[in-house]
Amino acid sequence: MNPSPDCIVELRNVSKRYGDHVALEGFSLAVHRGEFLTLLGPSGSGKTTLLRLVAGFEQPQSGQIFIEGRDASELPPYRRNVNTVFQHYALFPHLNVFRNVAFGLEQKKFPAAEIRRRVRGMLGLVELPGKEDRFPHQLSGGEQQRVALARALVLEPAVLLLDEPLGALDQKLRQQMQVELKRLRERLAITFIFVTHDQEEALVMSDRVAVIHRGRLEQVDRGEEIYERPRTRFVAEFMGVENFFDVRCVAQNGECARFETATGASLWAKNARGFSEGAPAILAVRPEAVRLSCAPPEPRPPNLLEAELVEMIYEGGSRRWSLALAGGARMVAREANSSSPPQAASVARGTRVFLSWEPGKSLLYPAGEQA
Ligand code: ADP
Ligand code: MG
Repeated sequence: MNPSPDCIVELRNVSKRYGDHVALEGFSLAVHRGEFLTLLGPSGSGKTTLLRLVAGFEQPQSGQIFIEGRDASELPPYRRNVNTVFQHYALFPHLNVFRNVAFGLEQKKFPAAEIRRRVRGMLGLVELPGKEDRFPHQLSGGEQQRVALARALVLEPAVLLLDEPLGALDQKLRQQMQVELKRLRERLAITFIFVTHDQEEALVMSDRVAVIHRGRLEQVDRGEEIYERPRTRFVAEFMGVENFFDVRCVAQNGECARFETATGASLWAKNARGFSEGAPAILAVRPEAVRLSCAPPEPRPPNLLEAELVEMIYEGGSRRWSLALAGGARMVAREANSSSPPQAASVARGTRVFLSWEPGKSLLYPAGEQA
């Protein structure tokens, strides 16, 4: 089969094992030209392995990889129009900033004047002009990271692979670099494949997010879809869904369906096609979709549970409530501080409260699906 024309990198059914350890299994992913795609997954899920396969540092046992329409098995790493920035970006300590960035161009025997022009231009772009003569130990972590970026970008690769490049930076610098990367991306015709284990970072940065778990692709979608409509229980949990109920479908009318928990509570879900009456399922809801009130809301919402307050954790921008349902099951609700009803903010442990959420916020997964 031919590679897809609008894809710059395409993996088809790729498997990679180290000895008998399976790092990637039947992995297919098409990266569009010019997009910012983030690979998101927990540690050990296969993210670095995938980048190393695209860069050509590893070979798959089976499947195919296409880069710019060409079968990559014929392309050694140096012939792939791909560059990598690693988490530990390893600048050359004995070379100054200029020479670090110039290194790849010198290797490729560019004329000196062209090297100067490109390096200066790139240092301007990453906002490091005037630092050309500094050595890496004379730079802050953020500045070193920008040098590493400039070093990779100056070669004008078609694809830039970034392996948790912001992992070593503190929160504030990290957010600043996120903005700068997005800005750079708008000014350069480069496709970014960015790796992170941080959900928020993935949502902030990306056109699309590919969630990877145990070497398998769980879901690839726009960030909003991944967050609002996680397709598997794993993606749901990884994206912060905390409330899961074992339920059985008791009434189905196509669009909306009623489910029942083991203790007999009724829960409603929209988009419940595929769950016929009698079928077991898992119904889930995000903590921030759950509304908390001291009296039952009027009119009575379809999803309404009574609970007892167990604990409130103040999180700064939000409050996180731990709740016990009749029968002992726990639930978690989260409210933004600005919108939290003052009555709920002050209620004591053991207080009876009411929890409700819209049927559209219920998520459904097949019974028994594990994260
Ligand atoms: P991630 O980058 O998502 O943390 P990796 O791709 O580095 O994950 O690793 C995926 C799995 O493969 C892990 O279980 C890791 O221990 C294993 N692995 C990675 N590289 C090697 C290797 N060179 N030899 C053996 N096992 C490896
Ligand atoms: Mg890794």
